[in-house]
Amino acid sequence: MKMKKDLWIGGEYRSASSYMELKNPFNLESLAQIGIASHEDVQAAIAAAEQAQVKMAELPAFERAEILEKVVQFLKDDREECARIIALEAAKPLKAARTEVDRTIMTYTFAAHEARKIHGETVPMDAAPGGQGRLAFTVREPLGVIAAITPFNFPMNLVAHKVGPAIAAGNSVILKPASQTPLSAYKIAEYFHRAGLPAGALNVITGSGRSIGDILMKDERIKMITFTGSPEVGRYIRENSGLKRVTLELGSNSALIVDEGVGLDQVIPRIVNGAFAYQGQVCISIQRIFVHENIFETFVKQFVSETQKLKAGNPLEEDTDISAMITRFDVQRTQSWVDEAVKNGAELRLGGGAEEGIFQPTVLVNVPTTEKISCEEVFAPVVHINTFTEFNEAINLVNDSKYGLQAGIFTNDIHKALQAAKKLEVGGVMINEIPTFRVDQMPYGGVKMSGMGREGIKYAVEEMTELKLISFKTV
Ligand code: NAP
Repeated sequence: MKMKKDLWIGGEYRSASSYMELKNPFNLESLAQIGIASHEDVQAAIAAAEQAQVKMAELPAFERAEILEKVVQFLKDDREECARIIALEAAKPLKAARTEVDRTIMTYTFAAHEARKIHGETVPMDAAPGGQGRLAFTVREPLGVIAAITPFNFPMNLVAHKVGPAIAAGNSVILKPASQTPLSAYKIAEYFHRAGLPAGALNVITGSGRSIGDILMKDERIKMITFTGSPEVGRYIRENSGLKRVTLELGSNSALIVDEGVGLDQVIPRIVNGAFAYQGQVCISIQRIFVHENIFETFVKQFVSETQKLKAGNPLEEDTDISAMITRFDVQRTQSWVDEAVKNGAELRLGGGAEEGIFQPTVLVNVPTTEKISCEEVFAPVVHINTFTEFNEAINLVNDSKYGLQAGIFTNDIHKALQAAKKLEVGGVMINEIPTFRVDQMPYGGVKMSGMGREGIKYAVEEMTELKLISFKTV
């Protein structure tokens, strides 16, 4: 699969002045040479996007929808090829990579639907004295050029969550994918080109996030930065983007409450999946589980036994559940956080070590909440299980976090479910579900350090359009 990938600017590949080697995170074999965008390349991408924006704003909704529908068809035709690209560049086990492609298909499908539905509303101006004799309504106009910066962990679907609504709303896009996962982004650009998107309406530039990001943030021609990634980078972008619109989808240390009386046989396989799918490198991976003291030991025993069924190995093998973490550095970081927690009193019930790039699924119990493994985002196949006695205490434990993306609760008690819905400080409360649950049309985003703004196509379209008021004086 070794290849050279140039930059995608103005509807064609353009040579870069230098290239970086892309390696497979599982076996460290070279996959491709990836272009590094220079200052001039970024400027060229911005100019191409600005020019294309004029055409995009004029494209009727049905044509934007049809382009998105064609991309959906290409993805369906090439489902297996796309899954293999994700598996290779991100070490995502093939089963999970296929699920990601299926979700990407849904995301662009929703974007196509949304393109046909963007509308404003009438405004009753005469509700205020002096407002009578007017017919007023709003329209939603595209913002212009949008810069999209995406992380490695869902390289196709998180790109879709930005490119889909941006194109649906008539914007043009400069996409800067994570350095580890550029291949799926270039693939999507090719699909949009084949689907008839005006040249320059989607540009893909690769290279260091820091240097490309600095140029994008300073350039006045860019009207919005939509970012998904780590809280540190998110904050940096927020603080350096001036008056641009900024949406941030950041990290979390997602928590789950399991109340007494819950049927553990049904929920545990699902919880294990929420904790360890894609090596725990999911922004809503379950990291903290709070279990009622009366069922704690049974829960831990069953949870460990279910986790032991997971098969570690090559992401390209059909039965692999767990593979390499994204970098060897992240393996070492995880190891040091686990070791530190054990040294400070946590009890290791499973895993706790690594082999090559694969960190074993790890279960810790009774972890002090001041440990990094609890209060920071671990982003690794590590989960901790602690107990609670009173339900209020469990709510407080979940809220005792600088993050707030999604939280889950399993309970048979409707009053507790409603209490959780009201009191949990997160962007989404999943009742009788794991916090890792997401379908692509629902509003999705966080509070606190988990970010600002919402994705989920309809909600992203709102962020990516400007509301304009038009008022006719009729008498
Ligand atoms: P990351 O290191 O923050 O990188 C994300 C993107 O930002 C990459 O394209 C990166 O480029 C770029 N970047 C890095 N430094 C930058 C800078 N100074 N200015 C502008 N862009 C910069 O995150 P990651 O490791 O790829 O992804 C993991 C994080 O994403 C986790 O915290 C996870 O929770 C979060 N996440 C959140 C959501 C959500 O929806 N809330 C979803 C998925 C992931 P390079 O790769 O070239 O450095």
